[in-house]
Amino acid sequence: MPREEVMKWLRTRFFPHIWCPGCGHGVIMHALLRSLTALDKKPEETVIASGIGCSSRMPGYINACTVHTTHGRSLGFATGIKLAKPELTVIDVMGDGDCTAIGGNHFIHAARRNLDITTVIFNNNIYGMTGGQYSPLTPMASKATTAPFGHIERPFDIAALAIAAGATYVARGTAFHAQLLTDLIVKGIESKGFSVIDAITQCPISYGRKNKMGSAADMLAWQRDSAVPAQAVAKMKPEDLQGKFVIGELYRTTAPEYTAEYDKLIARVYKKGGKEN
Ligand code: SF4
Ligand code: MG
Repeated sequence: MPREEVMKWLRTRFFPHIWCPGCGHGVIMHALLRSLTALDKKPEETVIASGIGCSSRMPGYINACTVHTTHGRSLGFATGIKLAKPELTVIDVMGDGDCTAIGGNHFIHAARRNLDITTVIFNNNIYGMTGGQYSPLTPMASKATTAPFGHIERPFDIAALAIAAGATYVARGTAFHAQLLTDLIVKGIESKGFSVIDAITQCPISYGRKNKMGSAADMLAWQRDSAVPAQAVAKMKPEDLQGKFVIGELYRTTAPEYTAEYDKLIARVYKKGGKEN
């Protein structure tokens, strides 16, 4: 059972949840709730937005200000909320397809604007809810219902994409490394700007079965064995990183935050009585 402080963040009246046995989404939700508890956030000051997909059902289970929106568009809603009430803590949870395909444009422009929003991307390499179609994060040669002979497209590196688009905090964790993931979400929320946490998780039903990855426990073991801590990368040769992924804090910088700049603009225009010059 989660701790009492975490239980306060759950809408238990909506349980049981919809997730399959062995799905990693519950672990990531728990990490998110632990991060909110660690930061002493209040439900009435915390917004959690989502789009469509298995992971996007998550805000419904959380006792905060939640909004379950349309596919790929949750960052549009989150942007409006943050602009109207910049003092709120705004978190956007998205699946890999939701974020990088349907919502790809919203994602890169929210990053470019450096809105003070924390995104947690539930990266299970597949569209889980709709039956296992490949997403922009499906690895090459993987099988999917829409790639029965093996996937021939190169996937995005979500961290590199986020950094190139202008995100100011980028990190990667996994469902296996739950405590690290909690710490990364805490830092992402604390960082004043657009934060991206790539949360690698397992979908044993729509991805694992097709790719013969074994049970949910086997998939968690794969996360454990494939993850390389960011601080170890400098000492490794490129060939040692083949088939691995880096976890931890990957990038951090500072840049003007959009809502703060917008407030300054309003103050400047008011001072001049609405005149341009
Ligand atoms: Fe989780 Fe996959 Fe089941 Fe969706 S289909 S709930 S992602 S295991
Ligand atoms: Mg997915």
